[in-house]
Amino acid sequence: GNVDIQCDMMVLGGGPGGYSAAFRAADLGQNTVIVERYATLGGVCLNVGCIPSKALLHLASVIDETSHLGKHGVKFAKPEVDIDEVRKYKEGVISKMTGGLSGMAKARKVQVVQGVGQFVSPNHIEVTGADGTKRVVQFKHAVIAAGSSVVKLPFVPEDPRIVDSTGALELRFMPKRMLVIGGGIIGLEMATVYSTFGARIDVVEMMDGLMQGADRDAVKIWQKYNAARFDNIMTKTKTVGVEALPEGIKVTFEAAEAGATAPEPQIYDMVLVAVGRSPNGKKIAADKAGVQVTDRGFINVDSQMRTNVPHIFAIGDLVGQPMLAHKAVHEGHVAAEAAAGQKSHFDATVIPSVAYTDPEVAWVGLTEDEAKAKGIKVEKGHFPWAASGRAVANGRDEGFTKVLFDAETHRIVGGTIVGTHAGDMIGEIALAIEMGADGTDIGKTIHPHPTLGESIGMAAEVYEGVCTDLP
Ligand code: FAD
Repeated sequence: GNVDIQCDMMVLGGGPGGYSAAFRAADLGQNTVIVERYATLGGVCLNVGCIPSKALLHLASVIDETSHLGKHGVKFAKPEVDIDEVRKYKEGVISKMTGGLSGMAKARKVQVVQGVGQFVSPNHIEVTGADGTKRVVQFKHAVIAAGSSVVKLPFVPEDPRIVDSTGALELRFMPKRMLVIGGGIIGLEMATVYSTFGARIDVVEMMDGLMQGADRDAVKIWQKYNAARFDNIMTKTKTVGVEALPEGIKVTFEAAEAGATAPEPQIYDMVLVAVGRSPNGKKIAADKAGVQVTDRGFINVDSQMRTNVPHIFAIGDLVGQPMLAHKAVHEGHVAAEAAAGQKSHFDATVIPSVAYTDPEVAWVGLTEDEAKAKGIKVEKGHFPWAASGRAVANGRDEGFTKVLFDAETHRIVGGTIVGTHAGDMIGEIALAIEMGADGTDIGKTIHPHPTLGESIGMAAEVYEGVCTDLP
């Protein structure tokens, strides 16, 4: 028939999952094509997610840090934020990274076919370019890595003052008063950026606390440290109405619990809707390839990332929670290796999570609440950063490092770090869990002093009862 391009491996979607699968496939000798609707590789993470948010959070943390220094004898003038220059900085970061990816694709002779892909058979996908031209790609193996999209609230009207995470990252204007709907990681990261740049923030969250899934003690510390950023944190509260008025966006609330009183309606200059993401499984004509998609748009896979159609794999946000870039990358490698005939499986014991707020909150494996819910008996080593010379020297000793141990085997089963650079340190606890390390393994490993990272060793020593020199 009318096949325009033939390949061994077709990857649908050029996000972290997709490009990782494609690069690994090419490295394994497969003639590889990426189908991507956008002009750049990198997907949500690089273009409108992980990386631009971190560029803005970096600026915010420097501003916050310099303002604290006043207390320690070093005063700076009040920062002047030029939002257009900030936007340019963020865009420069993105283009450096997307340029790098495009070079890596070229070096591997991975062909990027730009356009929207829709399956037309189990071995063909039709790609429609922006100008309407259609090309058909024939493949032996495929990896579906089409990612996820923001969840919209049905009652929210179209208005430039109402944004999702992508809109918030565009920095269209600086609001005076902003509402963040959804107290998860993405909402709180954007709240951090906008509040440092001068906005007053309210947060509304349906559940009984912010940052669901994180250790509650860590969230308490985070909330105490960040109290000044917020006028009102409304938990157990539903947003039920959003109205675009000339004077602002009027938002009405309802108590999530019967009998509780709802907060009064409020008017905001900007409303960020950050209530989650849903998989793109229903938007790719997967049925034409025979690939089953769940009601919610996920694609089920086995441990080799294989769908119900054996030569078609699926990875990333599309195959389930947690919707995180590092999970997508690892799944991409497994899929490419399995397609090339290797015996790879995705069998990660744990996947770390990080809120890149200030302080950062990072966790991996079980939390105390999860252990309790699962009936697993755990013990803990808790090291308060007030006892860390480095944290005190940094003027940032509000945090802690907590490591959880299986009460019987003493193996490490989870950990939480709240404090500056927590995200950079959580990998050690992930490694400990994957290697089946116990408290002694980490406690007897000499960590450099004085570092924030040594708090992990100290937490293990506290647990082993050998850390006697806490103040
Ligand atoms: P995606 O990155 O969603 O990529 C899918 C790609 O497929 C897209 O480029 C899309 O254009 C393309 N596509 C889809 N359908 C088609 C089609 N039919 N034809 C052609 N192309 C198509 N994760 C972290 O781990 N750390 C973070 O700090 C972090 N921060 C985030 C901040 C924000 C604001 C957001 C929104 C997300 C963040 N995430 C973070 C989540 C992370 O972005 C995702 O988990 C990750 O991008 C998923 O990768 P993926 O490859 O599955 O899909």
